[in-house]
Amino acid sequence: MRIAFLADIHSNLQALEAVIKKLKTLGEFDAVFVAGDIVGYGANPKECIQIIKNLSSYVCMGNHDSAVAGIISPETFNSDAKIAVEWTRNQLSTSELEWLSSLPLIVNYKEINWTIVHGSLINPESYIYLASYEDAEECFAKQETRFCLVGHTHTPLVFAKLKEEKGLSGAYLEPGKLKLNSQIGKIILNSGSVGQPRDGDPRASFAIYDSDKDEIEIFRVSYDIKEATNRILDASLPESLALRLYQGW
Ligand code: ZN
Repeated sequence: MRIAFLADIHSNLQALEAVIKKLKTLGEFDAVFVAGDIVGYGANPKECIQIIKNLSSYVCMGNHDSAVAGIISPETFNSDAKIAVEWTRNQLSTSELEWLSSLPLIVNYKEINWTIVHGSLINPESYIYLASYEDAEECFAKQETRFCLVGHTHTPLVFAKLKEEKGLSGAYLEPGKLKLNSQIGKIILNSGSVGQPRDGDPRASFAIYDSDKDEIEIFRVSYDIKEATNRILDASLPESLALRLYQGW
């Protein structure tokens, strides 16, 4: 079985199209998983919602999706993010807002041993940034499947819990293959952000998993950042939301 993973698209149509174009060169996939934040920040929320609806049946809700849908308050968001939430809500139709509202906090696909959540399995509605060993340990305690896909930090990252030893290992992921082995009990994977990477590499990030090889592969693809930023500026969204795409933060 081959699965593709996308997260944190954030209304960046140019990045999403570049990722899909690359996916088409990689053969057939049995499923595409999306770890939330389809909208927010970027200038093409409608197009991104349409593409994701057609692409995947396994999509969880991110905090920006939730704020745009009016489920959580964006009061903890920074001012630019709040502006983007309001702007996005005004662009979307009732049915698009209903689709965002309908997204589950957790997608459990036990048959193939995967769970999808935006932040962490610890209080998923609180959208914790899963970035430390302590966070990972707490998430693993709630994780009923071997694998869990997360997003939210916009940084490709993996945590592994070994079967025998008590310790954890974790690593930021560069593009390339990560071979798993039978010693690994559970995995938390963050495939990085499609539409607003924050690890200093502005290229769109995504991952695939091949169960026959028991192997995760991280990809980074260049996209038309100038076009994405022009659309942000044309929409009168905050300039910083455009500039940060060039810098990958
Ligand atoms: Zn996000």
